[in-house]
Amino acid sequence: MALKRTKIVDIFSPELIGEQVCVKGWVRTRRGNKHVQFVALNDGSTIKNLQIVIDLEKFGEDELKPITTGSSLHVEGTLVASQGKGQTVEVQAQSIEIYGTADPDEYPLQKKGHTLEFLREKAHLRMRTNTFGAVFRIRHHLAFAIHKFFNDKGFFYMHTPLITASDCEGAGDMFQVTTLNLGDLPKNEDGSNDYTKDFFGKPTSLTVSGQLEGELGATSLGAIYTFGPTFRAENSNTPRHLAEFWMIEPEVAFNDITDNMDLAEEFIKYCVQYALDHCKDDIEFLNQMYDNTLIDRLQGVLKQEFVRLSYTEGIKILEESGKKFEFPVKWGVDLQSEHERYLVEQHFKRPVILTDYPREIKAFYMKQNDDGKTVRAMDVLFPQIGEIIGGSEREENYDKLISEIERRGIPMKDMWWYLETRKFGTVPHAGFGLGFERLILFVTGMANIRDVIPFPRTPNNAEF
Ligand code: ATP
Ligand code: MN
Repeated sequence: MALKRTKIVDIFSPELIGEQVCVKGWVRTRRGNKHVQFVALNDGSTIKNLQIVIDLEKFGEDELKPITTGSSLHVEGTLVASQGKGQTVEVQAQSIEIYGTADPDEYPLQKKGHTLEFLREKAHLRMRTNTFGAVFRIRHHLAFAIHKFFNDKGFFYMHTPLITASDCEGAGDMFQVTTLNLGDLPKNEDGSNDYTKDFFGKPTSLTVSGQLEGELGATSLGAIYTFGPTFRAENSNTPRHLAEFWMIEPEVAFNDITDNMDLAEEFIKYCVQYALDHCKDDIEFLNQMYDNTLIDRLQGVLKQEFVRLSYTEGIKILEESGKKFEFPVKWGVDLQSEHERYLVEQHFKRPVILTDYPREIKAFYMKQNDDGKTVRAMDVLFPQIGEIIGGSEREENYDKLISEIERRGIPMKDMWWYLETRKFGTVPHAGFGLGFERLILFVTGMANIRDVIPFPRTPNNAEF
């Protein structure tokens, strides 16, 4: 009977020593001498490589020739305790089957030490490197942690549509969705496009957020969260923006802004703790390779309570800091990440939740404060990242919401279904959006958001 394959992540257990094992994976390196060859094999299940020891008395030179970096193998042999440095066990090969070769003159990852920029051009292969293996294993565990956190709290996972006919959020430009022939658009008499001929009979786009539909869920099921892709055609070429990114949006009936802040803080801390508990090897690798303050930073966030501060107080601190910012600060401006990071990294030295922003720089649905100038918004600001969460208590008063929609000139007829939540059994409620890739940036310590999603979508980049 054929020997069952053992994943490399499972092979380091002492009970297996002395056993016959079958392993499969890709060759990371091969070295050795005339008597013995050592192959480092990796199968993606862990950052650890398994050492395969090949006795040249048992295998011919020619047979081994195709075993180069990047080739793929099926190896059977005995698992033994290793005398070598850097590993606890190794496999003494008895049989080797080569699945596929990787010509050293062509294989892009033949050499070690490529830059992250180079690897971005090789996104189809970069998951085979230590760095990206670590990042994408962590990404998986964080996704799982998010579902676990909300499920354990009794939230319902809600799927909101990706194609939407409302463009009222105003969160950056939207990607249009159409089946019309762009080279020959049907026209109305006044020359505008005739969208009645389009697939949905009206203009549609990819969603920038699931929140509005999420509110419908929260005001029915009590507490929901969404976790899905969102799309923003904002032409911002920054290390923190993608055109396609994943967002988690909890929305909870009967929560006010304080409950919302409590939830956000508990949620992020849970995710960070989960990653430390379940991704130890990968985080240690990243800590050692890129940023030896990473683990301290993660533990720091767990230990400290987040500062809670109003926007107005935050602006005062920035104005009195005496620091020259690229974008000058005064009450009313939208904060740039340099301002957010000053508050977090220099002033408070811990995460900050900034609340009660000027009404004019926030969305129409946020609950209006009595001062008439600010709304009950909350942004969570993080070291290295800046804004990681944006949220608010929602305006539940029908008349106030209508007058704000009118004041902003948002097309009301598209909003009728949303307004009915305030018309029939309206309740206080609150929610927020966490950018999944920004969380992964924080947990991995990577500097560019393009390096924490397998196939990034950014301006002029949709190759893979
Ligand atoms: P920013 O000011 O950084 O552009 P935003 O105010 O547009 O963020 P929101 O609309 O509040 O962000 O979205 C909620 C969260 O989604 C943000 O806190 C952030 O974590 C994430 N996010 C927003 N835009 C992007 C993007 N283009 N790429 C990746 N994540 C994003
Ligand atoms: Mn934005």
